[in-house]
Amino acid sequence: MALVAGVIRRLDEAVVNRIAAGEVIQRPANAIKEMIENCLDAKSTSIQVVVKEGGLKLIQVQDNGCGIRKEDLHIVCERFTTSKLQKFEDLASISTYGFRGEALASISHVAHVTVTTKTADAKCAYRASYSDGKIKASPKPCAGNQGTQIMVEDLFYNVNTRRKALKNPSEEYAKILEVVGRYAIHNSGISFSVKKQGDTMSDVRTLSNATTVDNIRSIFGNAVSRELIEVGCEDANLAFKMKGYITNANYSVKKCIFLLFINHRLVESTALRKAIETVYAAYLPKSTHPFLYLSLEIAPKNVDVNVHPTKHEVHFLHEDSILERVQQHIESKLLGSNSSRMYFTQTLLPGADCSSSEVVKSAASTSTATKGTSDKVYAHQMVRTDSREQKLDAFLQPLTNPLSTGPTEETAGVNAGPPEGTVQPQDAEMADVSELLEMPDVVEMAEVQQDAVMPAGLSKSGHLSPEKAFPRKRPREDMDVQMEEDTRKEMTAACTPKRRIINLTSVLTLQEEISNQAHESLQEMLRDHSFVGCVSPQWALVQFRTKLYLLNTTKLSQELFYQILIYDFANFGVLRLSEPAPLYELAMLALEDPESGWTEEDGPKEGLAEYIVEFLKKKSEMLKDYFSLEIDEEGNLTGLPLLIDNYIPLLEGLPMFILRLATEVNWDEEKECFESLSKELSLFYSIRKQYIIEETNLTRSQSEDSDSGSPPWKWTVEHVVYKAFRTHLLPPKHFTDDGNILQLAYLPDLYKVFERC
Ligand code: ADP
Ligand code: MG
Repeated sequence: MALVAGVIRRLDEAVVNRIAAGEVIQRPANAIKEMIENCLDAKSTSIQVVVKEGGLKLIQVQDNGCGIRKEDLHIVCERFTTSKLQKFEDLASISTYGFRGEALASISHVAHVTVTTKTADAKCAYRASYSDGKIKASPKPCAGNQGTQIMVEDLFYNVNTRRKALKNPSEEYAKILEVVGRYAIHNSGISFSVKKQGDTMSDVRTLSNATTVDNIRSIFGNAVSRELIEVGCEDANLAFKMKGYITNANYSVKKCIFLLFINHRLVESTALRKAIETVYAAYLPKSTHPFLYLSLEIAPKNVDVNVHPTKHEVHFLHEDSILERVQQHIESKLLGSNSSRMYFTQTLLPGADCSSSEVVKSAASTSTATKGTSDKVYAHQMVRTDSREQKLDAFLQPLTNPLSTGPTEETAGVNAGPPEGTVQPQDAEMADVSELLEMPDVVEMAEVQQDAVMPAGLSKSGHLSPEKAFPRKRPREDMDVQMEEDTRKEMTAACTPKRRIINLTSVLTLQEEISNQAHESLQEMLRDHSFVGCVSPQWALVQFRTKLYLLNTTKLSQELFYQILIYDFANFGVLRLSEPAPLYELAMLALEDPESGWTEEDGPKEGLAEYIVEFLKKKSEMLKDYFSLEIDEEGNLTGLPLLIDNYIPLLEGLPMFILRLATEVNWDEEKECFESLSKELSLFYSIRKQYIIEETNLTRSQSEDSDSGSPPWKWTVEHVVYKAFRTHLLPPKHFTDDGNILQLAYLPDLYKVFERC
């Protein structure tokens, strides 16, 4: 038997190189990724990619980086030549993308490569062509800007099998767009563009001044960028940092989009993807996925970048612990965004148009569809807008309330007054209050003291000049005039026959401050809202167009009364107390209240109370003149300003108001005095929690005597206070972001939520 030994032949070196190159460069997108990384290593700020036939015919990458020195040009395409790594230990601290010196060499083994480059010091650019890793001829001087242009032609011209596998140029082009788009997102501050040769329009284009979110928007669209949460965490022990943007629970797609950069290199980590998807599973509908862009920086010595020639799948030390940390962080972020989900649009109050942009797109043929009254309203945008229609109260109020069928928008309101027999603000309510204050019959029926409007001896102050009219900017102006003629009988502070004209600089300045702070779209919302119902004395729901809002009645009413005090300065009617209320008793009551913060060190309460009475008596002339706050010579409070019709402040607040009037008001400076005094008054007048007490008492007294009783607080809130918001309140801008006006729901968003169920 003869044994025939096979002949072992050395493989042709060129074939070996080609096989090795095929491992590194599997498709045009891999080549482009390597080339982009080289551009970034060269500190470029602009990277432009042009391709032909999905990169198979031509890939051209132009940058404005540092360029390649002429003397290095002959070796750039040789294997293991790199300007970035000298010795093996350097691998532990690489911070540049390339380090193997393999990319350009590989490309030159499977394509025709031409490099044109110019460094800052060179007088001109140089061009050289390469084949199988070798330069074909000496570099030729030529014209060119600083930076490098690398042209790769006829990729895989010498690798038949590969060329056949990649016969779909549009698929390859899509892959190229994906890679460049992702690098563009990760490298905000650097402009990227990709286009097909001959096209004028780029298919990916980012600008150097765009933010990461801008870039995500321009590449993945608004639907993603709108729902992003910024993430970021680090752990010194595990020597890693993570930052990025992930979508919240409002967004989901069929296939997970995961942009992962580890040490600024686009990589894949199946382990990390799975770990994060587990977290999302609790938030997203079944078999849908998030968008994730994460940038991890891990101590280079802990990353095994040498794992595969394409350098895609990455492994690192402490992988499990790092995954867990990232998971925890993402969970906490999603949780946070979830609990604030119904509030997170609060920054998108009227005026901020982003959230409504979608409605415009989907519902209307013109972009102006959501603005203006003449615009077409589509069925799905239609909502209840007539506040006379069914409200929450219809479901919540079982008791037979004389008012529930009574007042409507036409018959009741700020200036019109509630129907007869329904509102007698005094008897029942005041009996309760007087019990509380230990004073009999404190207040008589609210009456308008017309004479209080023009007290004798006032004009001598010289500040007031009745001749000049102060132009008011608020819409109620017209109404005042009208009311003056129409309903003399119900004449109120808001429509006095002879209005005192105020020219005090301090007051005018305060008025100006209010109007400067006004938020137009909020004002529009308040003006045209439909009242839905009271949640509590402090909170109420209103609807405006397709949105539902939760409004802080306390804060809004406080602002309302403050503005009335400033705008109607020195023009108030009087709520006359039937029995004078001794300031001394009021002050003592307040000091007994722990809320006053009284301590032994402040001295005996009696002494303080006496001081307060004497102090306020000295101010009585001004208080009466400007604020209709009447104090008699014996030190009794006899009248309070009538700020809006059918509204009497809750008198439980009176003692504290008197105490604060003496202690919290700045009595030294004119403007500050009027401002702080108005603030205190408005605090006292605002709708507050105590209304619950009133309701309990009221319900009791109503059942005993159904004929009497003031309107329930809910009626007052809706028909007096919110009615006044429509015309009297200029909502300050800060209401949009301090939580006092919250957008709870937005119809199109609700549809989205339901779709998901
Ligand atoms: P690596 O990036 O691993 O060093 P490459 O084969 O990608 O290896 O590149 C080889 C060398 O060519 C780089 O080290 C660099 O000096 C030079 N080079 C390649 N592209 C550029 C470029 N766009 N700008 C400046 N220098 C470049
Ligand atoms: Mg490289």
